[in-house]
Amino acid sequence: MINDDKAREECGVVAIHIGTDDLSSTAPARAAFYALFALQHRGQESAGLAATDGRHMSMRKGLGLVSRAFAEDDMASLRGFASIGHTRYSTTGEPSVRNAQPFQVETQHGPLALAHNGNLVNAPELRRGLLERGVGLSSSSDTEVMIMMLAAAPGESWPERMACCMRQWQGAFSFVVLTRDAAYAARDPWGFRPLCAGSLPGGGSAAASESCALLTLGCRDAADVGPGRIVELGPGGPVDRGDIEPAPRQAACVFEYVYFSRPDSVWNGAGIHEVRRRFGAALALESPADADVVIAVPDSSISAAIGFAQASGLPYDEGFAKNRYIGRTFIQPTQALRDQGVALKFNAMPGTVRGKRVAIIDDSIVRGTTTGPLVRLLRKAGAAAVHVRIACPPIRHPCHMGVDMGSYENLVAHRLSVDEIRLHTDADTLAYLSHEGMMLALSEAGALAGPGPSGGFCSACFTGDYPLDIAGVAGKNGFESP
Ligand code: SF4
Repeated sequence: MINDDKAREECGVVAIHIGTDDLSSTAPARAAFYALFALQHRGQESAGLAATDGRHMSMRKGLGLVSRAFAEDDMASLRGFASIGHTRYSTTGEPSVRNAQPFQVETQHGPLALAHNGNLVNAPELRRGLLERGVGLSSSSDTEVMIMMLAAAPGESWPERMACCMRQWQGAFSFVVLTRDAAYAARDPWGFRPLCAGSLPGGGSAAASESCALLTLGCRDAADVGPGRIVELGPGGPVDRGDIEPAPRQAACVFEYVYFSRPDSVWNGAGIHEVRRRFGAALALESPADADVVIAVPDSSISAAIGFAQASGLPYDEGFAKNRYIGRTFIQPTQALRDQGVALKFNAMPGTVRGKRVAIIDDSIVRGTTTGPLVRLLRKAGAAAVHVRIACPPIRHPCHMGVDMGSYENLVAHRLSVDEIRLHTDADTLAYLSHEGMMLALSEAGALAGPGPSGGFCSACFTGDYPLDIAGVAGKNGFESP
């Protein structure tokens, strides 16, 4: 079991079509491989690639980081003109190649591969429907439900079959599809998870979960794939292949801005770094800190800490050195061991904090297991006072749209008041950004996902106002074996 007190999920998807006549080319799979590197922050537990040359589809999957999941032999075997890829985080059970993506099946229309980011809230019902129809399933992932439905869907073309399935799927799904002859990318009608597409510099096109991956490939025209839309990655650029009926409301995940997405990505018209900087600035105005220096919990809180420092007129400095080779802190049975786990990952910098009143900015608190150890590290390094500021509101509700925050009982802000959390974390003061402040900062940064007062965003983990019916939902990968 793992935890460094950050919400988890997220997977990264990529699809590439390169207009090449060389059917033995490995260029599309290599481009997808490079894009997966840029999406590594969205999942570190397994990765997979599939490629087609118009006759055969090949696929390789492995456990661990992208750099470890594929050997050169794997890359050499992924030939053709189009490729899709996936990097994955699993929430329960051991990471297994069985659940790694893409999934691939044979259909009456030829080979089909699919990779997915999100969570279908009606997956249990859809899964039962498949089993009742005699369809065998070999994994515990909702992605297998998706590909089996797509394989059997009615329609004259793959976009028609995709649209037919998308009308039955409820929840978050940004997904990519590889067929014998083409690659596609599509997004759920609520627009929960990001997905963008653009043209490749040497010809061809690409789609990826975040614009940072397309930038890595040299795309200069990356644009969001609209909610409910299907695009084909053509040799001359992305081609619109239609859409399905709009959802009752748009619901782009605010947590992408709080924590998940890379700071150099752009989504719904706003750069992630700029939004986070504004979250920090709004927090400084709402809850100023009587401090001498502002520091961040690296790396995801740096943008917010810079914004906090700028708005409060305090110096920003590095307060922690982070060991980037330790992925996560294991949950430990005692506080002493938890402190030790955090100390393995972070060292406080005495030169920055000794004798100073420190404002420490974190992007979020989920379970509340890391903040206390960080505060104690600062005190041990000589901080005269520690003021904790959190650049989002208290997370009081679980997510059912593909983000693992645990259940109600895991969420510290569901169990405890802000002052009780302050006591629990040993901070001198603790304050969170308000929901109003967060939404205003988003809009001032130019982020707009849809009409209405919510701006087309989902912020249900803060408010409990879920954008779709969650009665009887499965959690992320609710089928996975324990
Ligand atoms: S509940 Fe929170 S994490 Fe889940 S989709 Fe909505 S904003 Fe994102």
